[in-house]
Amino acid sequence: MPILFHSTNGQAPAVNLREALLQGLAPDRGLYLPDQFPKFTPEEIAALAGLPYHEIAFRVLSKYAGGVISNDALAAICRDAYNFDVPLERVYDRVHVMRLDRGPTASFKDFAALLMARLFGRFLRESGQRATILTATSGDTGSAVAHAFHNVPGIRVIVLFPFTEVSVSQRKLMTTLTGNVRTVAIDGKFDDCQAMVKRAFADPELKHIPLSSANSINIGRLLPQSVYYFYAASRLAEPGGPMVFSIPSGNFGDMMGAVVARQMGLPVRKLIVPVNDNDAFPRFLASGHYEKVVPSRNSVSNAMNVGHPSNLVRLVAIYGGQMDETGRIHRQPDLAAMRRDLFSSSVSDDRTRATIKEVWNQYQLLLEPHGAVAWRGFLDWQEHESLGGLPAVILETANPAKFPEEIERMMGWSPDVPPAMEATNKMPEDFDRMAVDYEKFREYLIRGHTA
Ligand SMILES: *Cc1c(COP(=O)(O)O)cnc(C)c1O
Repeated sequence: MPILFHSTNGQAPAVNLREALLQGLAPDRGLYLPDQFPKFTPEEIAALAGLPYHEIAFRVLSKYAGGVISNDALAAICRDAYNFDVPLERVYDRVHVMRLDRGPTASFKDFAALLMARLFGRFLRESGQRATILTATSGDTGSAVAHAFHNVPGIRVIVLFPFTEVSVSQRKLMTTLTGNVRTVAIDGKFDDCQAMVKRAFADPELKHIPLSSANSINIGRLLPQSVYYFYAASRLAEPGGPMVFSIPSGNFGDMMGAVVARQMGLPVRKLIVPVNDNDAFPRFLASGHYEKVVPSRNSVSNAMNVGHPSNLVRLVAIYGGQMDETGRIHRQPDLAAMRRDLFSSSVSDDRTRATIKEVWNQYQLLLEPHGAVAWRGFLDWQEHESLGGLPAVILETANPAKFPEEIERMMGWSPDVPPAMEATNKMPEDFDRMAVDYEKFREYLIRGHTA
């Protein structure tokens, strides 16, 4: 039986993986979640030990893909997408850093984008359709999505990014692509970009353009992000034994990958989900009262400058509550259960910078700002609970070379640049620029569509 996906707003028909992926947002503006999570037995989890990453990806994702894509095709896609390392570096005791920065754009977002682009391309080819992928980025999504979809036939990609909130290296990873990729610098914040994208999806005047989203709201982005938690457990956990993860969080897609893995049966003792100054979630967890951060706050961990994390509606749903896309809570989730499973703290820029220095001085381990938020959150949690000798994994979600100015300012030297980024840094940029003006943006989409 294929797994069906329903909307968190409960007003849209259930669909299979193919439809959920192609639609992105459900017609009632909710986000898709599986009706029930397929489970791994403890034996199946134990059998992952030592398997290559792409094989673990296949075993996790095939549980959702029945009736939609053959096992052979899915296995080939996983092999093709995941042809790079996923280093797990031991730092002390059983505490590890998992580096998710070895993909083409040196951030963890490659994991989801690479898989999703391949599925998307395949589904479109099967039905002879075309699509425009419209995405807003606070830094890393745009480049990961643009690279993953670059040159996929039948697909046009438009990426909106906040001009002043993105580092030059991050920007070049998207603005140097040509062909089917267009980047638009918006003179505003990430939230403005996201609002423009959301409006376009709901705009009746754009009905003739087959728009699709590749943001972390897409279930096709979310499911692949559950795989690296299984992978870490396959290398570090005792059979059936629990682990602790610390996940630097912005739009809460990455941490939802861990929640999905846990729902599928992966033993997780605690998920630590530190945020930067955009602290709506830790406040909510503490008080049960949800208030977005408007406007979102800038920080050095700029890919996490999200005032209202879209994926919270999914988290709330999994804990039995209901939140709509505006952040209004219609039914409270089980807060006691959430507090048992999750910990969250807010890490200021000062603490982020101090952490980068301390971790370097103590372990000669170089973290970039997002990984440093995860590290500090892990320490914050240990002021409340003891790790008790369990294996712990702190996610390093980007390569330090994406933030050379910041590292240089703090350490007095620049991080090594991976070869892929070095090449990009030398290529010419080409992007459009626009004010926060929805009407203009609509015209731009219509013009590009007919061009
Ligand atoms: C996007 C991003 C995050 C935050 O991930 P979410 O899924 O939005 O919570 C953290 N670190 C880096 C480097 C990112 O690019």
